[in-house]
Amino acid sequence: MGKIIRKILKQLFKKPYTNLFPAKYAPDSVLKLFQLLEEGKAELIPPVEVPPDYRGKLSFDSDSCIQCYQCEKVCPTQTMERDEEGDLIFYLERCTFCSQCVDMCPVDALEMSEEFLLSRPDKYNDDLILNGSESPGKVRGSS
Ligand code: SF4
Ligand code: SF4
Repeated sequence: MGKIIRKILKQLFKKPYTNLFPAKYAPDSVLKLFQLLEEGKAELIPPVEVPPDYRGKLSFDSDSCIQCYQCEKVCPTQTMERDEEGDLIFYLERCTFCSQCVDMCPVDALEMSEEFLLSRPDKYNDDLILNGSESPGKVRGSS
């Protein structure tokens, strides 16, 4: 009995492993949280570092792309579509982060970034669409 009580007490004073990101007591509304942060009434707890080879948001270097469409062939969720010029458009709300397109790309035009904060109210939000033809030469998706 004494052993159990000792264990319980030990657990009670142990620091939790969970990272309470983004705040210890998040309000129901994220907007409210931003307001509280601005007023200095809440503290932002930073996210933990992602491990090596983490598969976050896809990034696309349209300059390097040679339009071989190998990525399109292996993608299990048809994340990519082509515009009239054959440039790829990635609709990331369909992406499963499997990284098969990255492995397949012969010129390393694709990579999985460390970004994981991808929640948006609209799945067609600019942040969730990678479109090389709109911004030639610009690496998008790794901001
Ligand atoms: S990571 Fe997987 S699901 Fe996402 S675009 Fe690449 S192949 Fe498709
Ligand atoms: S596999 Fe790479 S080079 Fe080929 S179309 Fe996809 S992104 Fe472009």
